[in-house]
Amino acid sequence: MIFESVLEAEKTMVAMPARAIRTFVWDFADEGVHEVLGRLADSGVNGVHLALACHGGRYYCPHNPKRALVHAPDGALYFQPLLSCYDEIKPRVHPEFGSGAFVARLIESMREYDMIATAWVTLFNNQSLSLAFPECTMVNALGDRLEGTLCPAHPAVRGYAQALVEDLAHRVGVDMIELQDFAFPSHDQFIGARWVDVPVGQGLGYLLSLCFCEHCRRRAEELNLEVDDLAQRVERMLHRALAGDLSERRLNDEIADPYNSLARYAEARAGTITTLVDELNDATDGSHAGLQLVLAEEPDDAWRWGIALHTLRQRMLRATLQPGRGPAPRPTFVSRYAEVLQLGRDLAVDIPLGVPHTDDYSPAGAIQAALESGIDHFVFSHYGLVPLDMLDWIDALARR
Ligand SMILES: [Zn+2]
Repeated sequence: MIFESVLEAEKTMVAMPARAIRTFVWDFADEGVHEVLGRLADSGVNGVHLALACHGGRYYCPHNPKRALVHAPDGALYFQPLLSCYDEIKPRVHPEFGSGAFVARLIESMREYDMIATAWVTLFNNQSLSLAFPECTMVNALGDRLEGTLCPAHPAVRGYAQALVEDLAHRVGVDMIELQDFAFPSHDQFIGARWVDVPVGQGLGYLLSLCFCEHCRRRAEELNLEVDDLAQRVERMLHRALAGDLSERRLNDEIADPYNSLARYAEARAGTITTLVDELNDATDGSHAGLQLVLAEEPDDAWRWGIALHTLRQRMLRATLQPGRGPAPRPTFVSRYAEVLQLGRDLAVDIPLGVPHTDDYSPAGAIQAALESGIDHFVFSHYGLVPLDMLDWIDALARR
């Protein structure tokens, strides 16, 4: 009997799709649900990551039959949320797709094509919620609000993330929930243009990104840290570094010093994110949905944003590694994550299809590098933003 109840308690998640692709709701609405799903199935795709809470912006859509440009508001939901799930922070919904049953029907249709349905959601980089709830926005040591970010230590922000996960897992009924921006945001993640005429290196950027809101302070105080002293120190360092009086090297030495109170503050931040991930995982209990975390930072820098990789490994979550689309290749990104996380078949690599192919980057090269690290699950990006012939890459890969 005890054995049976243990089995019942264990969640059976669907297998991770081998070849998934990122999509937007408008791809299906404009091109036709069966048209798109049929095309994807023919290309060897067996999973769809559907952006259901997403960054805004201007999207260039080369094969959309109705429009070449899509403008999307920031931080909106692309499905009809059950508002009673949400407490203090009520979600912002997309004016066209935030109501009605389109997404519910779309997910049902994915099942007809044996596609695994993953909700792809962006959490804490959210301009519209940050503007609507300024008290939930991160605040640096100088007292400046980091507009566009939500602080993961704020109880209302955590409540919003939990409600979103619960809504998607229990009501929308997706198979997986992929969380992008689930940790402390960086100062340089901003939707608007940034005007920066002074060098902001990694060290200064880190200090500018440290949140000293009342909730972050309280969590650090629980670790017996003198937070006021630390905040004043960071404030002085910021002033001097911005004025060019404190070198990036000195800053990095201070940050790397394990006996410095900055290191203890990083510990508190890691606790904030680890407990949040646990709360979000709990929010999926009773559903068959699981969590998949998007890891986009260099593996050895993940701690800067509160991501403690060893604790994630213990929790046996899934992850998407996102080496990115920058011009500089990150040769050890995937192999280092594979080594640290040891998640085997629960790891996927994001493969951008549409970036300019250079000597340093091609989808084939990125796929080969992942295979050499023992990873054979891929999330291609993005269906609606690349020419259709790019789907041939997936087809070719699926036939390996
Ligand atoms: Zn905070």
